[in-house]
Amino acid sequence: MNRVRFAPSPTGHLHIGGARTALFNYLFAKKYGGTFILRIEDTDELRSTGESVKSIFESMKWLGLNWDEGAMPDGSEKGPFGPYVQSAREAAGVYKKYSEELLKSGKAYECYCTPAELDEMRKKAQLEKRPPKYEGLCRNLTAARKKEFEAQGRKPVIRFRMPDDGVTAWNDLIHKDVKFENKLLYDFIMIKASGYPTYNFACVIDDHLMEITHVIRGDDHISNTPLQINLYTALGWKIPELAHLSMILGPDGTRLSKRHGATSVGEYRNQGYLPQTMRNYLALLGWSTVDSQQIFKEGELEEKFDLKGCQKSPAIFDPVKLNWMNGEYIRGYSKEALLELALPYIKEAGLPVEKGRAPLADIVALEQEKYKLLSEIPGLIKFFFTEVEYDPKAVEKTLKTPDAGKILEGVKGAYASLNVFKEAEIEAATRAFAKAGGFKAGAVFHPVRVAVSGRTEGPTLFRMIEYLGREESLKRLAHAATLI
Ligand code: GLU
Repeated sequence: MNRVRFAPSPTGHLHIGGARTALFNYLFAKKYGGTFILRIEDTDELRSTGESVKSIFESMKWLGLNWDEGAMPDGSEKGPFGPYVQSAREAAGVYKKYSEELLKSGKAYECYCTPAELDEMRKKAQLEKRPPKYEGLCRNLTAARKKEFEAQGRKPVIRFRMPDDGVTAWNDLIHKDVKFENKLLYDFIMIKASGYPTYNFACVIDDHLMEITHVIRGDDHISNTPLQINLYTALGWKIPELAHLSMILGPDGTRLSKRHGATSVGEYRNQGYLPQTMRNYLALLGWSTVDSQQIFKEGELEEKFDLKGCQKSPAIFDPVKLNWMNGEYIRGYSKEALLELALPYIKEAGLPVEKGRAPLADIVALEQEKYKLLSEIPGLIKFFFTEVEYDPKAVEKTLKTPDAGKILEGVKGAYASLNVFKEAEIEAATRAFAKAGGFKAGAVFHPVRVAVSGRTEGPTLFRMIEYLGREESLKRLAHAATLI
C-alpha cells in the first residue's frame, strides 16, 4: 500500500510550489489507491504560526485536496500514526528517543560551538576558499571537555556524524541517478540547543514511523536528501522511494517569487481563479501526458497522473495560460452556477444589484464568453445598476461627432414608440432608424452603446439594452446627448 505525505512548514500561506507538491502527492495516492497524509512540520519555533496552519488547511480544502490521515482543521487527528504535528511529536518524546540512540552508538555527537564561533569558522573557510561546512571540531570531545563547556553555560546541539568518504547515491523517480560525494556533506544538526529537532532529522524519523513509501517533494530539497539518506542508513531503516519535482520559474526564467505577482493560493482565490483551474494548471507544472492534454475533466487527473510524466527540467509559470484556462472553466458553467461563483465578488464590490431590471444571472451571463477572472465581473456589470461612468475617450470618439446628437435623439424616439421592448425589436428599430437616416449601422450602434454603458466595448448591444429596460435606456440616451 502506497503512503505519501505533504509536509508543509507553517511559516506562511500555501504557495504555488507547495500546492503543486500537495497536488502531486494527492494525485499519486488517488491513482494508485494509496493514502495521502498531511503532516505539519512546525519545528521552526520562531517562524511557525497557528495562523499559517489555518491558512494552509483552508487552501488545501479549497483546492479539494482532502487528506486521508493527518492533522485536521478542528484540531483533531485522523489516522493511527499520530500525532501528525511535529511540535506535538517532540512533546511526546518521539525524536529524543532516536537522537539518544544515535548518540549512544556514536553516530551523532554533542557540539558546543557557539553561533559566534561558527560564524568565525565560516568566515575563515571563505577566506581560505574552503566550502563553508562544519569541520567537526566537537566530534571527539572528552567527557571532561564537555563538562567544562557546560560549566560555561553552553547548551549543546546534536550533530549527525557524516561518513568522511564514499558517495551517497539514489535513483530518483524523476531526476534518475543522483550522487553526492560524502566529503561534500556535513555534520548537520539533528537537535537544536532548544531541544527541538531540525527539519532533516524530524522528517526522516516521521517518514519512517509513518511508513511513507514515496517521498514526493520539490527539488529544492535535493541537497537535503543525501543527509537524510545517511540518517536512514545509520538507523538501519529502509529508504523510501524519492521523487523530486522540477523547480517552478517565472516567465522571465528566474525562480518564481513575489516579483512575478501573486504567489499564494489564497491570492489566486481572491482574484477569482477557480479551484478547478488551479488544480488543472498546477498539474501541468512539471507533468504532462504523452499527448500534452491541457484541460482535464473532473476525475481525469486522478486517473491519468503518473510520475513517469514528470519532467526534471524547470517548469515555467505562465499567467497568460492560467487566465486562458480560467476562462475555459468559466465558460463551462451554466448561468446559474456562474452566478453562484460570481456572487461573493459582486457582494464584496457592494453593487446595488436590487436595482437591476433583469435577473442577475442573465446580466452576469451576458459576457460569460469573455471573463477570465471572477473578480472582474462586478466591474463589467456595474453599469447596469449604477450611474454610467463615461469613459472620456469613448465620449470624445463616439459622442463628440457631428451626427451623434441626431442619432441619440432619433434612437430615443424609436425606442419610446416600441410596443415590445425586447432584443429583436430593439435591434430592428435601431436598424430601421439607421436605414431611414442614411447612416451605416455601425455609426448608430457605437454612440448608442457608449450612451447606455459608458464604454465602447461590452456585451451584445441589444440584449444589454433590453436588460437595462426602456425607461433607463431612454434616460441614458437623453443624458448622453448633454455630453456632446
Ligand atoms: N517541511 C518541508 C517543506 O515545507 C517539507 C519537505 C519535505 O517534503 O520533505 O519544505
